[in-house]
Amino acid sequence: MPASREQATRVAVDRVACTGHGVCAALLPRQITLDEWGYPIVAAADDPAVDVEAAVRLCPARALRPSRAPRQ
Ligand code: SF4
Repeated sequence: MPASREQATRVAVDRVACTGHGVCAALLPRQITLDEWGYPIVAAADDPAVDVEAAVRLCPARALRPSRAPRQ
């Protein structure tokens, strides 16, 4: 079942759609870093303070979607 946006505390990247603009890393610096080609690496740690809505809305390639950390 997909996560609702209200519950999302992280983002997932569609690696096919992503074009490496890097906006996500600027918006979510504690959750996303960029690799040497400018493509995002999402941190394993969950971050309840992230603005998932803004990142999803502002990705120019629409390659981000809300996500949640897997239950343990
Ligand atoms: S902002 Fe979107 S297109 Fe740009 S690197 Fe992040 S996921 Fe990829």
